[in-house]
Amino acid sequence: MNSNAFYVPKRAMAIVAHPDDIEFSCVGTLARWARFGSKISYVLCTSGDVGIDASGMTRTEAAKIREDEQLEAAKIAGAEEVIFLREPDGMLEGTMQLRKKLVREIRRFRPEVVVTGDPTIVWVGNDYINHPDHRAAAYAALDATFPAAGQPNLFEELAAEGLTAHKPRKVYATTWGDADLYVNIEETIDIKIAALRAHKSQMKDWDPEESIRDWASERGKGKEMAYAESFRVVTLVDDKTWDKDDNH
Ligand SMILES: [Zn+2]
Repeated sequence: MNSNAFYVPKRAMAIVAHPDDIEFSCVGTLARWARFGSKISYVLCTSGDVGIDASGMTRTEAAKIREDEQLEAAKIAGAEEVIFLREPDGMLEGTMQLRKKLVREIRRFRPEVVVTGDPTIVWVGNDYINHPDHRAAAYAALDATFPAAGQPNLFEELAAEGLTAHKPRKVYATTWGDADLYVNIEETIDIKIAALRAHKSQMKDWDPEESIRDWASERGKGKEMAYAESFRVVTLVDDKTWDKDDNH
């Protein structure tokens, strides 16, 4: 593959903790893939049910509002489906049960690329600590992707649901530093901003446009990109093996 060519997977699955995580981190890339015909699946571990701190707001009401916002954001980006696992927001843990749920989704959707966070990120600048749910979701996603999803004798009971082992080809971990891939999102920066605006309960009076343009242009600096998203990429199945196997 020409290293300058834009890699487009047939199917990609983004696995995150909360509604709006995809929009902040990687939707510019996912929307660009969708424009090239990729099928995109979103898996939300929680529905962000403690993320609206209005008085009188119950978790059930908040989850409904945030799921609706996420569905709207997914539509704006051209995603094919949104799966809500409905784990408890603010208390997400990388349990074996969560790993199995994610393996089920991976074996069902059979993504070529799994996109998730970088679970090793704790410190972010001097004014933010990476949310524990983000770390838990990212660890669970990585652990489900490799090696679990590809091992026929692990969670073999999923075969009763017609789900057989599947090895994703690549993992894209969204990252602030240590990136080895910058994806040009000039064509989809407006989609990223619009998809973020769909999370009205989170944006409130804040318009994300300026910050999103600043962050994305910072990443694109020195790479001849007006706007970029950044990833650490792991290739789990080499091109030859992938092309030979049509079971995906
Ligand atoms: Zn989040």
